[in-house]
Amino acid sequence: MATVSLSSVPKRLRMVEDFRCTSCQELNLEESADIYCEACQKFYCKRCGHLHNQLSTEHTTVGRGDIKKWPVPKEVEDFLRMCEAHENKTLTQFCQDHTQLCCSDCVVKIHSQCSKVTQISELTNSQPTGLEGMSVELETVLGEIKTLQISQKASIQSLQKTYKEHSAVMIEQMRGNLNTYIDECDNSSVGTSGGNEQYLKEEMCRSVLSIMNEFDNITAKELNEMKDEVISIKGSVTISMHKCTSLHNDLSHFHEIVQKIGDHKQLCLMASIKCKHIIQQALTLLGKSGKAFNVQSNTEHNVRIPSDSYECSITGICVLTDGQVLVADRGNNRVKLLNQQYQVVSHCDVTEYVEDMCQITPSEVAVALDDDSNTHNVQFITVSQSQLTLGRKLELHHGCSGIACHQGELFICSGTALFKYILNGKQLCRLYEDRSSVNTVWKCAVSPTGDRLYITSWHNKLLTLARDGTLLATYTDPALEWLTGLHVTPAGQVLVCGRWSYTVLQVGWEGQSKLANLATWEKDGVRLPWSVCYSSITSSIIVGQLGDNILVFRVE
Ligand SMILES: [Zn+2]
Ligand SMILES: [Zn+2]
Ligand SMILES: [Zn+2]
Ligand SMILES: [Zn+2]
Repeated sequence: MATVSLSSVPKRLRMVEDFRCTSCQELNLEESADIYCEACQKFYCKRCGHLHNQLSTEHTTVGRGDIKKWPVPKEVEDFLRMCEAHENKTLTQFCQDHTQLCCSDCVVKIHSQCSKVTQISELTNSQPTGLEGMSVELETVLGEIKTLQISQKASIQSLQKTYKEHSAVMIEQMRGNLNTYIDECDNSSVGTSGGNEQYLKEEMCRSVLSIMNEFDNITAKELNEMKDEVISIKGSVTISMHKCTSLHNDLSHFHEIVQKIGDHKQLCLMASIKCKHIIQQALTLLGKSGKAFNVQSNTEHNVRIPSDSYECSITGICVLTDGQVLVADRGNNRVKLLNQQYQVVSHCDVTEYVEDMCQITPSEVAVALDDDSNTHNVQFITVSQSQLTLGRKLELHHGCSGIACHQGELFICSGTALFKYILNGKQLCRLYEDRSSVNTVWKCAVSPTGDRLYITSWHNKLLTLARDGTLLATYTDPALEWLTGLHVTPAGQVLVCGRWSYTVLQVGWEGQSKLANLATWEKDGVRLPWSVCYSSITSSIIVGQLGDNILVFRVE
């Protein structure tokens, strides 16, 4: 199996596990060191140490209990001083603009325009060099990655279980249909005689065939659709699991190094900078990136097509892996596919108002359909070679205003409650409910790891829930009047838009405070924004609104 590595801790370093006895090493023996003698500048194992202490009684030695006073192993020092981007280059400088350690190549190639690049040796006087707290921070992140790995394994198992159960039910249903039919034949054939058998046999063949055909056309097609989803989701969870494993290794490695550096100021500083970077990578993977977006520029794109009868109203946006974009147009009961230049290249019609849309796999979405009265559906749509095809439809017994998907689990808002479903349309539970008013649970989104759920209420509120529906945080903001649009990026950044306040903003992953104002009516011409989505491919935020134009903001 191929593994995806996020950082480049060299393999050879992973082999170095412990301090070795210097005397034994000279005899080609591998013995773990027990003491260090500063006078000899040597490590000794228990046996050699005993001998050393007898021969050199005046030497003071340091035991493992005081390991911080032991010298930094050469491998550790080499590793800390090595540039990860440029082979055989030593880190000598620090760019304060990027908070990054640099080798001479880095400085020339990446940081030539940066305002503050200093020698690491000068830095130890101005920067704190302690590693206090780093160990604990690394341990916390390591624990969270372990938890994520466990939940990823569970996801794959429950996904396979859902599919198996569903196919068993379907086959059982067909068996039932066949049995019922045969029973009917049996009853009607009682009392008939001669000549009729041939007719009965033909009639039976025809009917069995029609039952089988129906199974092929509807059930088998649905099962295939689900099978493709299971395979695709399993694939992406597996990739994420590899990333976790690789990052876990790197973090454990740094955890080990931090214990071994002792009081060497410069190395402590370098280790602390490198640790912070790897912890940041881990937080991004855990969907806890606190990085605020910074808008660079914006453009408008018309998504109206000649056959549209009404003004567009974009209530949902999904970005596919190839950079194509799907928009849900509530104004025209349509889902439209846009190319990378945001031009409509294809579309498909749906039967009710499209309230929301979410991604199931890289090539499939589910749309929330509602006629504002009795019909509430989830319609699956597949994209293949720039064509949209309608897939299965789940019928719901409650309103359907918002939808989100995480590794085969569907989260659906009814207007006043949030329900959890699985891919075959089976409702698992009600996670949250607020009947105090209308539209209290309007749209929903899931954090990248599935451990937090976000829901919006038209009453200026964003709620953050735990996986089990427990309320964790409430964010209220007058700038989020009629909070309709909601999106969580792969790094866990939460984007929301207030429809009546004509604003788009970013809230921290904890769902407690605002991180950035991204767009407004005055500055950017946002008008009744209804949906928002981040594209990591183009590094932009796409805003859908009432009107024929979508807005695209380039961000950093
Ligand atoms: Zn000694
Ligand atoms: Zn020894
Ligand atoms: Zn470099
Ligand atoms: Zn720089």
